[in-house]
Amino acid sequence: MSRLSKHLLLAGAASFALLAQAPLEAQDRPLRIIVFGAHPDDCDMDAGGTAALWAAKGHQVKFVALTNGDAGHQSEGGGALAKRRRAEAQEAGRRYGIAEYEVLDNHDGELEPNLHVRQQVIRRIRQWQADVVIAPRPNDYHPDHRYTGVVVQDTAYMVVVPNVTPDTPPLRKNPVFLYSHDGFQRPNPFRPDVAVSIDAVIDKKIRGLDAHTSQMYEWLPWVDGILDSVPKEPAARLSWLREQRSGKPIADDVRAALRKWYGAKGDGVKDAEAFEVCEYGRRPSEADLRRLFPFFD
Ligand SMILES: [Zn+2]
Repeated sequence: MSRLSKHLLLAGAASFALLAQAPLEAQDRPLRIIVFGAHPDDCDMDAGGTAALWAAKGHQVKFVALTNGDAGHQSEGGGALAKRRRAEAQEAGRRYGIAEYEVLDNHDGELEPNLHVRQQVIRRIRQWQADVVIAPRPNDYHPDHRYTGVVVQDTAYMVVVPNVTPDTPPLRKNPVFLYSHDGFQRPNPFRPDVAVSIDAVIDKKIRGLDAHTSQMYEWLPWVDGILDSVPKEPAARLSWLREQRSGKPIADDVRAALRKWYGAKGDGVKDAEAFEVCEYGRRPSEADLRRLFPFFD
């Protein structure tokens, strides 16, 4: 056991707090970001625009869906649907310009926050050498979303502990963990610590979502009872999707965060993605966040 890990395990929370508050080193390599979602299209909706911005600047972004999406359709299912959705995710990742989009083979609708899934997540974060980890909060109507939040949160210290999941070398620096945006109010509402204008890449985000044909044009409209309103022709369908997924009113607290990070320019932003700093990972300073989100100039 290394001195660092022994120190961490013996001294526990007090020394971890010191580690967590150490300043992030200036980056002399591209940033490495890993985004977790429950289903193959969740990462896209939560962070597709910000991912495209990072990727355009040469940073390395990986999306991971913890389930294969094999329950997400009204008339298809099982392995055939999982295969279809994996292909859709690959195409979406290509359209955002990100490095990888991995879909794990856990069943949709059955995700549990168990040790097996936690180890799958620990390995992915370590292998990616992540500076930033993004996942939903553990407050959500959908159990798969909720448990994705729980599982990723449960790794926010374990990724640096060598004796945990020892088949994959531990990280020496704990990443910054961020929650993706949601509207749930209980037990506490989302707090937009960072808000990113995605206006420059909104077409890219919509085209990425468009790759998820089984979801955007079939399953989700069916759930919402609006399947009949989905156009059949591809260009008309894309316009319909743009209307559905962009240009919606921005919540007051997200607008305030945009003003904080962009100044007066924040008032004109049409589409944004927002993130909350999780208190369990490395705690970034404002300067750290400006390095991790190099978009505000
Ligand atoms: Zn989902």
